[in-house]
Amino acid sequence: MYKVAIIGAGTAGKACQSITSRNTNNYVVIDKDANPVSKCSETACMPTKKLIAQAQSAQSYHSHFPSQNDSDNRNLLREALKASKEAGAYFSKREEESNQNWMSSHFIQGFVKLINENRLEVSGKQIECENIIIATGSSPRVPKGLDLKHDAVLTSESLWQKKDLSDEPVAILGSGVQGIEFATALDALGASVHLYGINEQFALLSEEELNKYYHKKLEERFKVSIGENQLKAQGDKISINTKGSEIAFKNVLLCTGSQSNLPSLGFENINSGVEEDGKIKNYDQEGLRIKNTNIFICGDASGLSQNIPTSKRQAHAICSKIFPKEESILENKAPKFDLNICFSIPQIATVGQKYIQLSKSKTNFKTAVASFEDQGRARLEDERIGFIHIYHHENRFLGMEAIGPRLENLSHLIAWSANLNSDIRDWKHLPIYHPVFEQTLNQIWEQIK
Ligand SMILES: Cc1cc2nc3c(=O)[nH]c(=O)nc-3n(C[C@H](O)[C@H](O)[C@H](O)COP(=O)(O)OP(=O)(O)OC[C@H]3O[C@@H](n4cnc5c(N)ncnc54)[C@H](O)[C@@H]3O)c2cc1C
Repeated sequence: MYKVAIIGAGTAGKACQSITSRNTNNYVVIDKDANPVSKCSETACMPTKKLIAQAQSAQSYHSHFPSQNDSDNRNLLREALKASKEAGAYFSKREEESNQNWMSSHFIQGFVKLINENRLEVSGKQIECENIIIATGSSPRVPKGLDLKHDAVLTSESLWQKKDLSDEPVAILGSGVQGIEFATALDALGASVHLYGINEQFALLSEEELNKYYHKKLEERFKVSIGENQLKAQGDKISINTKGSEIAFKNVLLCTGSQSNLPSLGFENINSGVEEDGKIKNYDQEGLRIKNTNIFICGDASGLSQNIPTSKRQAHAICSKIFPKEESILENKAPKFDLNICFSIPQIATVGQKYIQLSKSKTNFKTAVASFEDQGRARLEDERIGFIHIYHHENRFLGMEAIGPRLENLSHLIAWSANLNSDIRDWKHLPIYHPVFEQTLNQIWEQIK
């Protein structure tokens, strides 16, 4: 009997493998692919960040040299898609190479069926295991009326097969993190973008004022339609109807969320499975396990994680239950003030509690506001967009929602400071150089008594 069987060797599964391997040799990893690579490397984090890096450079170049109208946008987009695909291939290869450290003795390729709480079937063979960790990831959610096989339908997985996108307008369905990242990047690279959102909520933002502001800024660049939409195939196009206005597109990129890759694993045999609303039956969210079993669910498959840091924290939490001595390793404990970043242009970031959480819990709080619109460095970089909203009570930091340039760095500084000491008065004395984006925070300090 194996001590641990890990199903799925993406980011979450590999994090579990790494912790398991330092505690026991009696484990097995099972994946449907012969040399498994995480979604992060192949189609998600890495190629998108390459696309965004190129888009940021293109935008920056055009804003600094507006008279240089030589940009062949068509080539830019084509080259950016190619380079992004290559970035995915580079990181995938690196992952495949490091798989060799453990695969020869601990890997089975195949599709898994759960027989009962301690027994699996894979490639016609049954194996027994004391603990089962399911880390089979997620797939793009396909809205009603659409068929993934239709040529016009693109996902974050199939996009990288496209050689070009500049010949026809691109509809982006969904105004969440992925939708905003793709919309702003593809626009900066010369695509004709039309963004469709269900409501006026963009990426991570919950505060109405910030959402309205971001909406306005997006509309200065490309078309944005908000409201319920109906989708249907029309020859080689997909038509999108919002509030009576119908447009047909040859490229429709789905950024409509994801769903757990769980249904085909034989969950009926352990009285579990994915229910219609996407929830997992008999799943203990705190313990990350199917109730009364030693079957754990980790990463995107859990429906509770949609990013790498959370997947890794979950992996650590699960392995600590299986190997109690891991509990003393603090490296992956959830921070008091967590952070989230949308790598859009401009970026969006949140730290700690969001406006909506504070409002719903009827917390007493004030908002300190800083603007990038006339900030020195932002003017020099021609990135004069955005606001930082810091929510606080009696000088204690509670949370932040922000739009602005290079927020991936600023939000880390805020999150790190808050986790070390949440009294904002003490942050006023930390060094700030000149001229830098961080000087924007001086506007906040003035509002903290
Ligand atoms: C476009 C995009 C951009 C993103 N950008 C970021 C980012 O910048 N930062 C960030 O933190 N997160 C980002 N994410 C999210 C991040 O990529 C995921 O949260 C993470 O990759 C999920 O890891 P996972 O291990 O749960 O799943 P995966 O990496 O998908 O691994 C699942 C594994 O399970 C295997 N598998 C599936 N079904 C079966 C089966 N039936 N039997 C056996 N094996 C199976 C697969 O082959 C695969 O190896 C992004 C996601 C997308 C889509």
